[in-house]
Amino acid sequence: MSADNHAVCAVCRWVHIKARAAEIVEGFVEGDLLVDSRHDVQCWLKSVPPIPLGACGDYTSSIVALAAMLRISQPELDALRRYAEQAYPEECCGVLLGHMEADLNQVVLVAPVANIAEEARTRRYQIAPEELIRLQRTAREQGLSIVGFYHSHPEHAAQWSPSDLSEAHWTGCSYVITSVRANNEGVAAQTTRSFRLTGSDPDKQFTEEEIVLDAV
Ligand SMILES: [Zn+2]
Repeated sequence: MSADNHAVCAVCRWVHIKARAAEIVEGFVEGDLLVDSRHDVQCWLKSVPPIPLGACGDYTSSIVALAAMLRISQPELDALRRYAEQAYPEECCGVLLGHMEADLNQVVLVAPVANIAEEARTRRYQIAPEELIRLQRTAREQGLSIVGFYHSHPEHAAQWSPSDLSEAHWTGCSYVITSVRANNEGVAAQTTRSFRLTGSDPDKQFTEEEIVLDAV
């Protein structure tokens, strides 16, 4: 799904596809109208004129899936990005604790952990199993669960690598990657993206999800 043929409704979190009835090909088409058969069209993007449901014969409603989303507060997101800068030129890593509800992973706490990869820590990260167990216990004590993991890509794009996918095992979790680069002014975190792990071996996959900031 490309960004220009769909949008995530900020209110209902459903993916809405731009679609003309005649152009629908497996639900993903180019078009110029967003119609929602489930929700009030008023919750639509501002650029879209509200059209009463069922009033437009040329168009069809098209909802394909709940949009996966990672919600995090600005301070927690800032902290996660700062860890990427501090660990440079090595990869940082850590665990995201929070609440998992349907397709929304809500981050409550960003927990940094040591990167214990024995070699090539500029390209790899590894979290000690005992750290994971400890954090699982911490999460449980606070009524939280592990909702994701994060690491950084020094001098590389915020795009998952084949080893990121092969080493990811927590279905439903968000895998957040921050690209971090050095320039004249120092080391700076660049793009941060989040990928949701779905399916299980050998058919697991990453799907990019939106990172949404908690309303203050
Ligand atoms: Zn990676």
